[in-house]
Amino acid sequence: MRKMVEVTQCDACGKKGKEREATTALSVAGDSYDLCDEHGKKFRTYFAALFSTEKMTAQSA
Ligand SMILES: [Zn+2]
Repeated sequence: MRKMVEVTQCDACGKKGKEREATTALSVAGDSYDLCDEHGKKFRTYFAALFSTEKMTAQSA
């Protein structure tokens, strides 16, 4: 069960054992993520890459 906290933490940082305030909420196909600035940018870059196959090369497996 999810614990209620006053400040929403970045999910991506949480996976690394870090606590960082989330500033961005991302919703993808029914899943939602809360992300800090840094991870928000990473996701944005990642999704931008997904939709532009021309100039971006695959960075992840
Ligand atoms: Zn983060």
